[in-house]
Amino acid sequence: IERAAILRKRFDIHIAGQNVPAPLESFEELISRHGCDSYLVGSLSKLGFREPTPIQRQAIPILLSGRECFACAPTGSGKTLAFLFPLLMKIKPGSKGGVKAVILCPTRELAAQTVRECKKLAKGRKYYIKLMTNDLSKTGNFKDMHCDILVSTPLRLDHAVKKRDLDLSSVEYLVLDESDKLFELGFVEVVDSVVEACSNPSIIRSLFSATLPDSIEALARTIMHDAIRVIVGKKNS
Ligand code: ADP
Ligand code: MG
Repeated sequence: IERAAILRKRFDIHIAGQNVPAPLESFEELISRHGCDSYLVGSLSKLGFREPTPIQRQAIPILLSGRECFACAPTGSGKTLAFLFPLLMKIKPGSKGGVKAVILCPTRELAAQTVRECKKLAKGRKYYIKLMTNDLSKTGNFKDMHCDILVSTPLRLDHAVKKRDLDLSSVEYLVLDESDKLFELGFVEVVDSVVEACSNPSIIRSLFSATLPDSIEALARTIMHDAIRVIVGKKNS
């Protein structure tokens, strides 16, 4: 058996999909195997992260390789970093030409917390990282806004798109965090509308959640292309 299979077994990682990149053995491999910027890997050690968590081991190489994924792992298992790290690797800071990444969260608290995590990780780089507040969504002038990474709840983002002409066609990276809750709360249509507004054909989409009910997976598959499914532990723990 290859190294990848051994690692997956050791960390209880279950995958479905074609040509799945090998899981990380360590964060060091991000530099040695994946050619990642050492500043970002340096941020990890400054934050006290020594070893990747199982979901990080598998989801980070998938997203770095440009594949889409559904990732399901228990609460508290480090899913935020699993999507933020590849996002920061892919997106150039201080870029002109519109929003490059959107992270959709089911609650304002989670959105605010995700912005804080993202800023900590990106410290020392000139990213424009923005939280979609109620005020911004109602009165924002999005034509002149500097924003690389935008974090929002679905309704606020949808409002900004429909009523304030926020253009999401330059988004290269879309994350649906706690996607089970995003869909549960009856946001399916709003989420769909945001997904449609992110019309760049080469966009990379990912879903992260603690549970992955079949109904959500079926729904999600309609918006993903050739996505890899990653489950850590049991599917609906
Ligand atoms: P989840 O989204 O899966 O519920 P979080 O991303 O919120 O989990 O992470 C839970 C906690 O674990 C956070 O405090 C985070 O800073 C911490 N954490 C994330 N990755 C690591 C790591 N590799 N090593 C140690 N702590 C980590
Ligand atoms: Mg989370």
